[in-house]
Amino acid sequence: MGGNTKKLIQKYNLRLTKSLGQNFLIDDNVVKRIVDAAQITENDMVIEIGPGVGSMTVELAQRAGKVIAVEIDKKLIPALQENLGEFSNVNIINKDIMDVNINELRDSGQFGNIKVVANLPYYITTPIIMKLLEEENDIGLMVFMVQKEVAQRMTAAPGKKDYGALSVAVQYYTKPEKAFDVPPHCFIPQPEVDSTVIKLNVNETPPVKLMDKDFFFMVVKAAFGQRRKTLVNALYNFKGFQKTKEEIKEILNQLGIDENARGETLSISQFAELSNLLFKCS
Ligand code: SAM
Repeated sequence: MGGNTKKLIQKYNLRLTKSLGQNFLIDDNVVKRIVDAAQITENDMVIEIGPGVGSMTVELAQRAGKVIAVEIDKKLIPALQENLGEFSNVNIINKDIMDVNINELRDSGQFGNIKVVANLPYYITTPIIMKLLEEENDIGLMVFMVQKEVAQRMTAAPGKKDYGALSVAVQYYTKPEKAFDVPPHCFIPQPEVDSTVIKLNVNETPPVKLMDKDFFFMVVKAAFGQRRKTLVNALYNFKGFQKTKEEIKEILNQLGIDENARGETLSISQFAELSNLLFKCS
């Protein structure tokens, strides 16, 4: 199981770096199931974030038209190159994904779909996902292995304990769908947490109409920034708004939202209505 990954680690005498989230997959069945979840075909250009020594890259290269593998750690590159030597459809880029402009990776534009597939480094999961969602790009599908709790936050419904700003952002941009859980023994070294593979199907059109997207996310941030406070107090204390409590109550009344409601009970449509009305009155 994952023999090639272990062999490469030994051959190149690699010491895996915890601070870079280097937990490599050694279960070939899990690798196949992740790539299956992404429904990769020759029509796809796949961006893999953090290929490591290529545990998943080989499977991707066998099925995709093109694979672009972006790895931050220079010391892994020779092993990665050896592992992928036979494939002419793989580009290895030694960079931090946070510094990569996804639109510049699309060369000839001959591929119908752009997909991102990654066993993400857990120390930077949310910033990577937010970067990919917020920048204007043509990604249609993302399949990520993440910490189980992060997957729960992404899929959480209003009113649930895991529902927060990440749930709203992910559900605004995509339709998230849990694929399957992965236990720690499928990696070396074993992480201290359970993992989940999640599919994010990017929305062609957002589920709600917003007058101002930045303002919407500011309202969401304010509502969840002070979770224990009522929405009225959370919005009143947030310095982005210049409203009295009475004015905020009036706006909530207009929308039929209980004055004592907390932010975590609001659906995305309610956040949209609230932010549109606050924006109009600002
Ligand atoms: N894909 C491999 C696998 O499944 O075995 C490795 C996954 S490991 C969880 C995460 C990988 O992401 C590591 O190879 C790490 O060096 C790389 N990485 C960490 N931070 C990164 C960043 N900011 N940009 C690109 N790669 C990064």
